Amino acid sequence: MTITDIHTHHLDAAHAVIAVSPQQFAPQPGLYYAVGLHPWWLDDATPVQLSLLEQVATHPQVVAIGETGLDGLRGPSLEVQRRWLEHHVRVAINVQKPLVVHMVRTAQPLIDTLRRAMAGRHLDVIVHGMRGNAQVAAMLLKAGFCLSYGQHFNPQALLATPRDRLFIETDDAPITIQQVAKEVAHALGMSHDDVMTLVADNAARVLVGQ
Ligand SMILES: [Zn+2]
Repeated sequence: MTITDIHTHHLDAAHAVIAVSPQQFAPQPGLYYAVGLHPWWLDDATPVQLSLLEQVATHPQVVAIGETGLDGLRGPSLEVQRRWLEHHVRVAINVQKPLVVHMVRTAQPLIDTLRRAMAGRHLDVIVHGMRGNAQVAAMLLKAGFCLSYGQHFNPQALLATPRDRLFIETDDAPITIQQVAKEVAHALGMSHDDVMTLVADNAARVLVGQ
């Protein structure tokens, strides 16, 4: 598989990890998915959805768990979001698939929660939609996370990201992954093709072995 778009909500996207809820999961041939409960929509989340998540997490077309995470501006209380984030960490570690994380103004609580929930066990964490500055990037990188950049990003943060921990994404933006790659290539002083190869290699390393 060649995956270049590590996070999208476009349901027919090829070469991408399509984020869906457990109830939404209806795998199409040749497409790949991340399954999780988005932190914005947790008010109605139930134990039934959690057990459905646990079931579909093992499906071979599910290559990551998420999106999950912490949003300081939207969604239910951080306490509720944290509890569900911990559930997702447990599921991801159980099935040995990476975690796709949503983060808005919550870098430190996110780092603390993940560190506690991981308890020394290995888990690849990809912070998606990275818009933070170089200081925030440094905190997340020090914690061992990968960073994914989309339509809007801080060029200094991008430049501070080691190339083997760099991903790109379309998320829910009305753009193509080629357009994102073009912006990222420009900021990094790389060619478009080299960026596409880099992110595909990174995805193959982190996602393969399902
Ligand atoms: Zn998203």
